[in-house]
Amino acid sequence: MDTEPGVEFDGRRVTACERCPELVESRSRIVNGVGPDDADIVFVGEGPGATEDEEGEPFVGRSGTVLDDALRDAGLARADVRITNCVRCRPPENRDPTVDELSNCRGFLEAELQNVAPDVVVTLGKVPSQHLLERSVAVTKEAGSVHDLRVGETSTRLLVSVHPAATLYDRSQRDGFFETIAEAARLAGVREGSDGQSSLGDF
Ligand code: URA
Repeated sequence: MDTEPGVEFDGRRVTACERCPELVESRSRIVNGVGPDDADIVFVGEGPGATEDEEGEPFVGRSGTVLDDALRDAGLARADVRITNCVRCRPPENRDPTVDELSNCRGFLEAELQNVAPDVVVTLGKVPSQHLLERSVAVTKEAGSVHDLRVGETSTRLLVSVHPAATLYDRSQRDGFFETIAEAARLAGVREGSDGQSSLGDF
């Protein structure tokens, strides 16, 4: 995959890419997915915001705090799951990624999903839900719904979720968001141990 001049990609991490001129201008760094290379759950967001661009890790700003809280509530730690984005460079002024930018970055996301091969992919918000399902998605209505997702040779399940930031604008979305993350844990086979601690089957 890294035969293209200027692109360096190892199947999970992009270390050089200049496909999107505007994003090359606006980014401080490329923000790759984090978490185990064989995670059972992969969360897919839209793209890095200002804090992620600064720190080089997805979902470390206010949305990340909400996601961390929901993971904890579902018996999971951030370190148990993989978290990535549709585009790996921060769009200027936090605008949505363009169709071209999404398409330029799509191969990286598909390869990452194929290589990690999770039990469940959770799309956080409208952009990743539409991008991976390849249709328009009414995310608030469809949150919690499960779909088949084919990426290359691999088939997995996709669980639609609202974006964690939605819970900051609208508190009434918080319970639904937490329930969707708990459903992701159930789909991935998180077990409740006798000590009350949960664990992922394969961990
Ligand atoms: N929102 C996203 O969609 N992705 C991030 O990494 C952070 C906020």
